[in-house]
Amino acid sequence: MAKTLQISKLKAQVAGETILRGIDLTVHPNEMVVIMGPNGSGKSTLAKVLAGHPEYEVKGSVKLNNQELLELSPDERAQAGLFLAFQYPVEIPGVKVLNFLWTVYTQQHPDRKKRQYASIVDFRNYLFGLASQLSISEKLLDRGLNEGFSGGEKKRLEILQMAVIKPRFAILDETDSGLDIDAIKVIARGVEQISQETGMGTIIITHYQRILQYLHYDKVHVVINGRIIKSGGPELVEELEQRGYGKIRD
Ligand code: ADP
Ligand code: MG
Repeated sequence: MAKTLQISKLKAQVAGETILRGIDLTVHPNEMVVIMGPNGSGKSTLAKVLAGHPEYEVKGSVKLNNQELLELSPDERAQAGLFLAFQYPVEIPGVKVLNFLWTVYTQQHPDRKKRQYASIVDFRNYLFGLASQLSISEKLLDRGLNEGFSGGEKKRLEILQMAVIKPRFAILDETDSGLDIDAIKVIARGVEQISQETGMGTIIITHYQRILQYLHYDKVHVVINGRIIKSGGPELVEELEQRGYGKIRD
């Protein structure tokens, strides 16, 4: 079941510096919300704080339905249904993609009898189907996790993970950056499909309007210096494209 994410008065500090200065944002099931903003405005910090990165000193509240996420460990947040696609996915050499995703799947479905895919062989076939939709080569599934993957392959793999996990809520931090136009379309289609299937809420963090052409999003929020300084609909993206962040303040 999809869930509402409610962020209230969220503040974050790191190394004595205040990065987030009070973010209020609610995202309902089925909703796709876009966060834009210049470099260094705090977008990735928001994503990391939501995921539970230990580096930050955090105040405020983040609720997924009525569960306070800030009290939970990163693992518990993932179990509660939160998924974060990182700007820079980590490499885990020696852990095969297939085995990693099978582990993820079996942890999510601990009761063997209720699993749709009873064995890793069945699961592999299912994964091949998903991978082909995302234009991921089958060979990649037998390699170490992100080991030597190109930027585009890493980002596609994040979406494949998301398709397996079917999260209640997803945050994608610049999943489109560094991708060619075909990869952007594949990623956008993947995200749209998962959100339609599951009703998950989504926060898309991006610098560019390119990926937004292929997504059905509801709202746009502009973050500058750790605050949402303007919110609007798709027309705000157009305005940003023409005027830049410097003139967007209201
Ligand atoms: P964005 O993703 O919007 O480009 P970030 O959230 O990555 O921005 O960074 C916001 C600000 O926080 C930047 O000025 C960055 O230098 C600062 N910052 C992030 N992590 C640390 C840290 N560990 N120590 C000091 N400053 C940090
Ligand atoms: Mg960033």
